[in-house]
Amino acid sequence: MSEKKHDLQECSETYLARALDRLDLDDPMRRLLRTSYREIKFELPLRRDDGSFSVFQGYRVQHDSSRGPFKGGTRFHPDITMGHHRGLAQLMTWKTALVDIPFGGAKGGIDCDPRELSDREVEELTKQFTRRLSRLLGPDVDIPAPDVGTGEREMAWIYEAYSRQHGHQPAVVTGKPVSLGGSVGRTEATGRGVALFTAWAAETEGLDLDGASIAIQGFGNVGRNAAKFLEERGARIVALGDSKRTLYREDGIDVAALLESLEDREKKSRIPDIDDAEERGRDEVLTLDVDVLIPAAIEGVITADNVGDVSAKLIVEGANSPIHCDADQELEERGVRVIPDILANAGGVTVSYLEWVQNRARYRWKRDRVECEQEEILRRGWDAVRERAEKEEIGYRPAAYVIAVERVVEAIRLRGF
Ligand code: NAD
Repeated sequence: MSEKKHDLQECSETYLARALDRLDLDDPMRRLLRTSYREIKFELPLRRDDGSFSVFQGYRVQHDSSRGPFKGGTRFHPDITMGHHRGLAQLMTWKTALVDIPFGGAKGGIDCDPRELSDREVEELTKQFTRRLSRLLGPDVDIPAPDVGTGEREMAWIYEAYSRQHGHQPAVVTGKPVSLGGSVGRTEATGRGVALFTAWAAETEGLDLDGASIAIQGFGNVGRNAAKFLEERGARIVALGDSKRTLYREDGIDVAALLESLEDREKKSRIPDIDDAEERGRDEVLTLDVDVLIPAAIEGVITADNVGDVSAKLIVEGANSPIHCDADQELEERGVRVIPDILANAGGVTVSYLEWVQNRARYRWKRDRVECEQEEILRRGWDAVRERAEKEEIGYRPAAYVIAVERVVEAIRLRGF
């Protein structure tokens, strides 16, 4: 894997530009789609446990809200930049439009390393972040969610800090603990969506999922749940990769038993040792001779440097932007089918939407209903992309972008701004 930093903004702009070239849009509309509605950067002073002060930067990029309130994750990571958030916020706009849920796109966070802060410090920082942004958030304005470095604990703090100023508002944030109005099925929603798209794409491409070999990079929330649901559908998970190594087993890894063996399922994202599995280099998971590859760890892992060694027939982007745009072009030329992130990992934001719907109705749904609604929404998204790709004889990514951009443009035109 190339160690060069992945430029997510460059790639999201490239994919958008390719879609715009297929659509007949005037310059002001192109500009509107490319630029953020609002970008906010603000300081966050924090009194540390030892009595000293630290100052962090908070960010929120709101890209587009023509189809509904801004929606997007909250990332706590020391390396975040405005450009990165800009790219991720755009991805959210296209993702919500593609699966046709009534939201726009946003992303934000704090440039901190939560592992170096105490629980009290993270709580104070999260609440301070919410208070500073409070007038720009709201169930009908902008709805944060978890992302790298945050989870349901931080979402509960956002809910609390916002509600102190605005009254009881569970729908201001999604990904909350179920006991505070979170939805059942949210934790596994993204991985379940990845598995569903893999199954539908395999069927379309004439690949029998029963016994098909699959390699998955990432054993966190997305990777492990995708592995679990695909194993249940008869697939053979031959390789799993994490930040340290790849574990390979030709006959298939027993994912259910592996998950059962984990002591703390939610927190551990490293793969435990597996009997009979071969240990390989970290990045080998990407270049194994398999039917399906699911990069579900981090951004920019398939680049111009290693794309020539990728031999899967189908790639399903569980992570955001795991394929650099240069490598994507080569894969398309080689006829490798790629299910793009804006579709493949949209299962999470779809159940976030269902959480928001339940909160607004002050009602809770059972798991069956959540799963059924999620599957219906994702299936409509898949059918639209497949039909467009077939009709125009293009890849799934350009088809997905064209549909998403068309929907946003239609909303802008109908609303008249
Ligand atoms: P996670 O933190 O739970 O797990 C990440 C996994 O990636 C871990 O197994 C980690 O060991 C592995 N990893 C980290 N660095 C690596 C490296 N250099 N090489 C190989 N593996 C590495 O994260 P997650 O929630 O599973 O999210 C994974 C990706 O999916 C991210 O890109 C995230 O933005 C995207 N995503 C997540 C959700 C969600 O609901 N969790 C929704 C949409 C998109």
